Amino acid sequence: MPVSILIAIFLAFGLEEILGIGTSLGFGEAGRIGVAASSIAAVAGVSFAVGRFVAWRVDRGDYGSERLRRAYAIAGRLVAVLVLLSYASILYVANWRAIVEIDFGLRGAFFVDEFLILLPYLIAQFSAWWGLYAAERALRLASTRMSDRGGVWVYLSLKARQSLALALPIILIFLLGEDLGDRFAPKLDRSPWIQLALIGLIGATVLVTAPAFVRLSWPTSPLPDGPLRRRLETLMRRCGFRCSNILIWKTGHSLVNAGVTGISSRFRYVLLTDALVDRLDEHQIEAVFGHEIGHIARRHFLFFGLFFIGSGAVISLVALGAHEFIAWTPSGGLAVVFDRVDAIETGLVIVAAFVYFVVGFGHVSRRFEREADVYGCRAVSCGSDDCPPHVDVNAGSGMIGVAERICPVGVRTFASALAEVAELNGIDRGARSWRHGGIGKRIAFLESLENRPDDQTRFARGSRRFRGLFAMSLVVAVAAAIATGALSKALSF
Ligand SMILES: [Zn+2]
Ligand SMILES: [Zn+2]
Repeated sequence: MPVSILIAIFLAFGLEEILGIGTSLGFGEAGRIGVAASSIAAVAGVSFAVGRFVAWRVDRGDYGSERLRRAYAIAGRLVAVLVLLSYASILYVANWRAIVEIDFGLRGAFFVDEFLILLPYLIAQFSAWWGLYAAERALRLASTRMSDRGGVWVYLSLKARQSLALALPIILIFLLGEDLGDRFAPKLDRSPWIQLALIGLIGATVLVTAPAFVRLSWPTSPLPDGPLRRRLETLMRRCGFRCSNILIWKTGHSLVNAGVTGISSRFRYVLLTDALVDRLDEHQIEAVFGHEIGHIARRHFLFFGLFFIGSGAVISLVALGAHEFIAWTPSGGLAVVFDRVDAIETGLVIVAAFVYFVVGFGHVSRRFEREADVYGCRAVSCGSDDCPPHVDVNAGSGMIGVAERICPVGVRTFASALAEVAELNGIDRGARSWRHGGIGKRIAFLESLENRPDDQTRFARGSRRFRGLFAMSLVVAVAAAIATGALSKALSF
């Protein structure tokens, strides 16, 4: 899921809508245009500089060394942060939303206003991708394992598809709800409960309909009948996993990846990219497939949904805290220094929400990846105590259910698939990943479970305990937000 566009949407609509905080800082018209232009120029300048520099280094004979790749990965992340910072400054310093709604007179216009409000983000994001393209291309050609097809426009449209496809349903449903709500029920009782129910309804609709958008936005075709499909179907039967179809996701052989969508099996697809099916052997593909089944079997989507509901409660508590804190400072303290109290409040809430998201979401996400990894190992494990000799479990061996214990060959198969995917995508094994955890660490963890049934049991028990704790803290946060009045304050605007 493209996190950055969701943060952008939150910056644009979430903060003001949820917290009811005004955000204008006094600036003349020339000042606003200057802020907007220099923000975009900064993104374009930095990303083009990074792109050119990496391409130049590769040309100079550094054939994509690990050091260069690692530096580039960090630079790419900084550029992503810069894009968001520049958009935030356009929104809050140049006061872009007010320009669109008041100066352009577009408040309440169907979709047009929201699109224009998001436009600076899209421009900043596109210039960043464009700037970094030189580096992406140089590194890909240097690794020579993947070809460069189609040039910059194909690359840009692929990037746009990848990041917009999953965010699109959320944007559309959110905006539709907002526009229709304003238009037809402006006087509807905006009690916190109705608001909360609406948010829940929107979340559920997104989760159920997202797969349809994925199919619409990405070119896909069903995996043709053949040995691979039969093996994957055997695996699905063993796991008791059902989906609407297995799809090949056509990326022009530029991406090695897999994914699963949809909480209901009727709208659920497993996607395997063309390059993944080409480059990995059938056992490795089964292991990757097993990882995706693991996400469903462990109900990760549901828990992410709960996480976001909990986020609303936590952020409203932070907002109340910020409000109380400012009220508590001796009169004339903070307020005089910064002039605008609500701007300080907004700032505090943004920082707190950001930290909560980076720490909380990162932790949950990495944990879930580990669970899915273990499930992926089990999907190709025979479960026998004295493996090897290993039984090819997905070749119609008649094995029922999925192995309780992971076997050495299963771990080896999964680890090799993981390493291969990283290598083909040009990801360094030692690189850290906020959402997935570093490849090297993930492999080391699985190897640490090999031949250690007690550790495997302990991991399973720890996962169950984490789930319970997770659900409980959510309930506590929501209860606290309701009891303190933070939620009703945040939701009434
Ligand atoms: Zn995963
Ligand atoms: Zn085995």
